[in-house]
Amino acid sequence: MTNVPNVKLNNGVEIPQFGLGVYKMKEKSEFMEAIKWAFEAGYRHIDTAAYYGNEEWLGEAIKESGIDRKDLFITSKLWNSEHGYEETKAAFEKTMKKLDLDYLDLYLIHWPTANYVESYKAMEELYKAGRIKAIGVSNFQIHHLEDLMSQTEVVPAVDQVETHPYFQQDELRTFLKANGIAHEAWGPLGQGKNTILTNEVLTTIAENHNKSVAQVILRWHIQRDTIVFPKSVHQQRLAENIDIFDFELSNDEMNQIKQLETGERFATSPDDEEFLKASAQKKID
Ligand code: NAD
Repeated sequence: MTNVPNVKLNNGVEIPQFGLGVYKMKEKSEFMEAIKWAFEAGYRHIDTAAYYGNEEWLGEAIKESGIDRKDLFITSKLWNSEHGYEETKAAFEKTMKKLDLDYLDLYLIHWPTANYVESYKAMEELYKAGRIKAIGVSNFQIHHLEDLMSQTEVVPAVDQVETHPYFQQDELRTFLKANGIAHEAWGPLGQGKNTILTNEVLTTIAENHNKSVAQVILRWHIQRDTIVFPKSVHQQRLAENIDIFDFELSNDEMNQIKQLETGERFATSPDDEEFLKASAQKKID
């Protein structure tokens, strides 16, 4: 077993600070194999979404694993075309049927598309009824959170946003910390499609610790108290990514990484209204 620490969310629920993200795992055989390897390597936290189209496979993989439900932490997300009070309740039931679970650990609003307040109110009811252990949001900027919190009761447990050494989210992090909302990083490795993994500063730090650049980045997230779930379908990388709890970055190294901020996202901005509108038209099964 690995030594992944838990983080306590604002309602006392514990979440493993490290897990597996399963976005773009579209082939069933690849998915099943990756989850099996991940469980073997000690992963217990899986981040999926209705939009990813693999909730049903995750349900199967969980059953096959024989791991106790209480030892797993499963997150899913409400898709943009399913916003609204009744729609959210129906979408949640669809997710639970696919996962074939009795309860969900964490349910998030995937993006701040129109009607997110009504959606969140439905989630609050599901939370109070014990169907979900914690509720939260994703891709919410400070203004979205302020708007949501002024109209609802339950403070979101997490905000899941694009975060990596080139886009560190410092302003949002200060807000999240002040409001007791945990920070989850998506694209923690910059989605592997950019120059982060060959960055010179990170490469030197990695060499000093005899670790890979991916491990240094993930360790940086952990030391900033962020929750991470890098995606990989390769057995060696799955093992490599979770092997980050036996070394520590110095303050100087953390500061060197701090300087890598570019102020630019790799992915879509949550304030891109065109994207939000178009994605809300994108129906899922
Ligand atoms: P990521 O930063 O985890 O990058 C994944 C890619 O990095 C892999 O496809 C691979 O190419 C590379 N990689 C992984 N391990 C590596 C290693 N050890 N060495 C070298 N390369 C490696 O990007 P992601 O998958 O987009 O983000 C992680 C998870 O976050 C997703 O799977 C999903 O669960 C979640 N996510 C959420 C949102 C959202 O809107 N809420 C958006 C994107 C992703």
